[in-house]
Amino acid sequence: MASGHRALDLLATLRDRHREPVECLREPADLDRWLGIAGLGTDERARGEDLAAARELRETVNRLVRAVMAERSVDAADVRELNARAVQQPLAPQAGVGLELRWTGSVAAALAAVAREAVELLTDRDRTLIRECAAAPLCSRVYLDRSPGRRRRWCQMEWCGSSSKMQSYRSRRRDKS
Ligand SMILES: [Zn+2]
Repeated sequence: MASGHRALDLLATLRDRHREPVECLREPADLDRWLGIAGLGTDERARGEDLAAARELRETVNRLVRAVMAERSVDAADVRELNARAVQQPLAPQAGVGLELRWTGSVAAALAAVAREAVELLTDRDRTLIRECAAAPLCSRVYLDRSPGRRRRWCQMEWCGSSSKMQSYRSRRRDKS
């Protein structure tokens, strides 16, 4: 998890929010893949309605997270939407014969698990550790800053921390002005 939290990782499935957003959840199979990577892969395959629900949940969490980062009050409708998702039955853990962890349940249940984690994050003091990558607006990823001294600046050092991206952006801005 690049962001340090599954609900924040979900936000990254819409890339480049500040410029031209790129949708990474284009079809139901994309959601199955994301859930697998997120450790919530289940035995059911996503359908179109699950894809719509995942995008909705993502945008609800995004609005809440952006409000928290800006120290604004959150929208009550967003809170209601998140709660409605979080109250649903989440995935159930199951032991495989090799004692590996497996999840059983619907894709909606997998999304409920993410919603519950979002509720836990947003109601915890950890919400003050949510940051946006210092490469914004070139990068719109957010993460939990658990570094010593809270000095993390980048979503990922190898993506944004290597300064070339920032430098080329700055020089382009200089050229314009
Ligand atoms: Zn970044």
